[in-house]
Amino acid sequence: MLLLQQSSWALYEPVAESYYAHQKNINSVPFEENTTTYLSGQWQYYPKQLLQTATPTRSSRTVLLPISFKEMGYPQNTYGTFVGHFKIPKEFIGRRIAIWIPNQYGAYRMYLNGDFLLRLGKVGKTIQTHKTENAPRFAYFIAESEYFTVTMQVSSFQSLHGGLENPMRIGVSQTVNRQFQQLMMSIAGVCGAVIGVGVFTILFAIFRGARHNQSHGFLVFGVFIIFLALHNLFSAPYVYTVFTNIDWLWGTRLEYIFTYLSAFFFINYMFLLNQRYLHPAVFTIAVFVLSFDIVITCLSMPEVFEKLAFYSFLLGIIVVLNFAYGFYQTVNRHEPYSTINLWAVVLLCVTFLHDFLLSLNWIDSVNLSFASTSFYAFLIMVQQSRNYAYHSDRIEKLNNNLLELNSSLDQKVKERTVQLSELNERLEIQAQTDALTGAFNRRALNSEIQRQFNETAQQHNAVLAFAMLDVDYFKKYNDYYGHLKGDEILQQLVQVIQRNLPEHAYLARYGGEEFAVILRNMPVVVVEKSLQHLLQIIRQHQFEHMNRGDHKQYVTISVGAAYIDRNHHYPDIHELMKAADQQLYLAKNAGRDQLKM
Ligand code: GH3
Ligand code: MG
Ligand code: MG
Repeated sequence: MLLLQQSSWALYEPVAESYYAHQKNINSVPFEENTTTYLSGQWQYYPKQLLQTATPTRSSRTVLLPISFKEMGYPQNTYGTFVGHFKIPKEFIGRRIAIWIPNQYGAYRMYLNGDFLLRLGKVGKTIQTHKTENAPRFAYFIAESEYFTVTMQVSSFQSLHGGLENPMRIGVSQTVNRQFQQLMMSIAGVCGAVIGVGVFTILFAIFRGARHNQSHGFLVFGVFIIFLALHNLFSAPYVYTVFTNIDWLWGTRLEYIFTYLSAFFFINYMFLLNQRYLHPAVFTIAVFVLSFDIVITCLSMPEVFEKLAFYSFLLGIIVVLNFAYGFYQTVNRHEPYSTINLWAVVLLCVTFLHDFLLSLNWIDSVNLSFASTSFYAFLIMVQQSRNYAYHSDRIEKLNNNLLELNSSLDQKVKERTVQLSELNERLEIQAQTDALTGAFNRRALNSEIQRQFNETAQQHNAVLAFAMLDVDYFKKYNDYYGHLKGDEILQQLVQVIQRNLPEHAYLARYGGEEFAVILRNMPVVVVEKSLQHLLQIIRQHQFEHMNRGDHKQYVTISVGAAYIDRNHHYPDIHELMKAADQQLYLAKNAGRDQLKM
């Protein structure tokens, strides 16, 4: 890559200072240890002559470098010699000096004080003998004196401008090398980053799937970014430094093709974004023109396709005006839009316009599109990553909320289940309980007596007693004291009975003022005793009843009981209960307030 010419400097006699004394056009190149400077200034140009050093007898003209053949008024297909005299600061005598010659789109041979130093391509007088090569080159020499002469034999064919268009730099060799490496590093870094963004965007679009509305936009944008980076790489054109064997013709073609492709995907992106930014007619024409440009670039020589590029760029102005009008409408209608995107596109358009004017030599400036496109990619990168961060954060929060909601829902369901089962238990109890007295109701009694009857049937020597209790003269009680008082008496009676029944006895309200008691697994005599005790206790409570019609003035009950034991069998509970009811009837008829078994 770096061509070091080891000239026979040790044998070289420094040209006498007097030689330079009568040279009028000595350009001072005041570089310092850590800076470089342009090797520009006044040069002598000898058209259509290939010389090794200044030759005053030949026809020449004074020109200011850098300059193209076209700017000098020659056809771009020509050749000639540039000779320049220079003076470097004294302190660099004996130091190793480097001249950095950027890509010139032609061929040249370089001489220092008449001695051959380096060449690029083949300098020739005809298109057949000439050979273009594109690459930056470095010429190294040891400064023997503060004065030196540089001769550049240059030939250009099939290039748009020709000549020495790109300015050369001079400095101490380490400094020149360092500056070049810094530039290379930054270009590689920026292009790498831009390609990375492109690849990320493309993969993002692919993984998101075609069904998603915005995926197309992302995909197109990613491809655009990739071509933008490739365009930058070729137009810099430092790609020749990395790949030394790229053919100059295809190098130049790719530089244009990548520009067209990035433009193609960019207008597609804008078109997808909103048709307002690009009218379908303008879009169709632009697509057609770009496709045409690509085909012609592949098939023709630079002098043809470079001219075509200029005219195609005029269409670019219409596209930019369309963008501007679209943005104007968006802003005017207060519709939401991305500020970053707006400014990025404005920047891109301005710098492209700037570079177009630069290539027409209408303005004097440096190429900006590399910086602006990289900056554009960077802005988009910022915007996308911010959007992505925002969305992923939002999704995370939503997820967390959902999880929390789920667990709190879980908790609630558990609580509700507990409440429900408690409620069910209570309901079950309620369903078995008589509302007025709190004793079991008829329904509970029916299943309980059936259950106990079944168990008794399986046991040997078991006893099951069933007693019916009926309040005496209760109708008259109601008539005399009222129903509310009657209810109270029923409640009090239940409490008294419950307190005084043996353990495991089962008390239920049979209906109205009638109650049932089940006693089990106790001898019949104990059953009888317990029931007699109940009658006695009720009597002792002396609940007032003045309206009985007999001599007593307190509430009493009558009890009829029947039982199953070894000697007494009943086919079913109905028969047992019927028997108890008959005994109750007997007790009533025998004067009430007594037990019949
Ligand atoms: P006996 O000594 O023959 O049993 O006479 P009795 O009046 O108690 O007989 P009967 O069975 O004819 O009357 C029952 C009365 O019990 C009828 C009704 O007024 C009363 N009664 C039934 N259920 C309730 C109740 O829930 N509350 C009140 N206050 N009275 C009730
Ligand atoms: Mg009754
Ligand atoms: Mg009664």
